[in-house]
Amino acid sequence: MIGDKIICPLHNAGFKITTGQEEQGPVFGGLKTFKVERKDGKIIVKVPQEGWAALPEARESPIKEFNKNKKIVIVGGGAAALSAIDSLRQTGYDGLITVISKESYLPYDRTLLSKGSDATKYPGPIRDQQWYERNGVEFVGETSVVGIDYAHKQVKTSNLPVHYDKLLIATGSANRVPPIKGLDQVKYFGLRGVDDYKKINEAIREKGAKNITIIGAGFIGMELASAIKMALKDQVNITILEATDAPLKNVLGEKVGRVLQTLSEKNGIKIHTSALIKEIASENNSPKEVILEGSTVPTDVLIMATGVRPAVEFAPELLDKETSGIKTNVYLQVDHKDAKDVYAAGDVASYPYWYNGKRVRI
Ligand SMILES: Cc1cc2nc3c(=O)[nH]c(=O)nc-3n(C[C@H](O)[C@H](O)[C@H](O)COP(=O)(O)OP(=O)(O)OC[C@H]3O[C@@H](n4cnc5c(N)ncnc54)[C@H](O)[C@@H]3O)c2cc1C
Repeated sequence: MIGDKIICPLHNAGFKITTGQEEQGPVFGGLKTFKVERKDGKIIVKVPQEGWAALPEARESPIKEFNKNKKIVIVGGGAAALSAIDSLRQTGYDGLITVISKESYLPYDRTLLSKGSDATKYPGPIRDQQWYERNGVEFVGETSVVGIDYAHKQVKTSNLPVHYDKLLIATGSANRVPPIKGLDQVKYFGLRGVDDYKKINEAIREKGAKNITIIGAGFIGMELASAIKMALKDQVNITILEATDAPLKNVLGEKVGRVLQTLSEKNGIKIHTSALIKEIASENNSPKEVILEGSTVPTDVLIMATGVRPAVEFAPELLDKETSGIKTNVYLQVDHKDAKDVYAAGDVASYPYWYNGKRVRI
């Protein structure tokens, strides 16, 4: 506990102790609170007879009537979009909110996709459809934003243009795929969302693929390998190919990377470090083997886990080459001469960290 704040020692999420309200992420909601009394030197916590589950959620919109004359449009339906909706309502914004997302799913916890051993289920939305309705939010799924008309305050979409008074770009990241000879000739997978997850599952489980090769030993490659192995055990051979000399070296350092490598290998996953990939050999558009300097890896399913880039292809004018994100000020307002009333948040934003002023992009 620090002052009136309780902080999660694992993830650093923080909650106000008196109201349960979340004050810093990563977290998707507040804590339930109980009435507490001090009596005869004892602290008594009052839990309702029906149990703690009967208590209302800490986070409900205080606004019930919405002003139809103003509208914030949020592009992207991920974690940043959900956080923004929550914060807007909690801080008294009473206008309409429209979320435009490529995906058909209401915001869900993307991080679970690479961690489950039951690799067939969509983790479900973080908040249900009724929550969005109560919060005056229109969710427009399966719609891509393809450009922004700053002069007319409109986003151009794969369907009709949508007017905004203020615009929030929260399009997250897209997979980055390095040029590898033969890759353009084969079907390969990447993991960003539920639909990718379903496709990987279908290829592995329903089509009974035996040899799975994952290129890239970052978090997603390592987690996904472990989840598939846990689920399918000896039914599959999993090989991870990593260009550096230890998994996760750039994020966790060599020592921790090697510990994770040993653990994964003990669980039956092969990891080739310092792997120099020469070519992907294919047959009828399916991968056959990955050809390395000095060896080959038989491959039925190929997964590229080679990192991400900001998903900003629909507004290349906003991409800041130096930070490879959308440059914002400390209030997340986009720093671009044409982009009035435009904000960016989440993976796509590059903003000055309040603590030291240094520009960061998560
Ligand atoms: C498999 C996996 C595991 C992860 N595990 C972890 C973890 O353990 N810990 C951690 O901290 N982070 C993890 N991450 C990263 C984390 O999910 C992101 O940091 C977080 O989702 C970023 O939130 P966001 O809202 O900025 O973007 P996203 O959640 O990526 O949401 C962006 C949304 O915008 C949509 N979109 C993109 N372009 C357009 C467009 N032109 N028009 C309309 N919609 C568009 C996308 O389809 C998506 O719905 C993981 C990511 C993945 C994929």
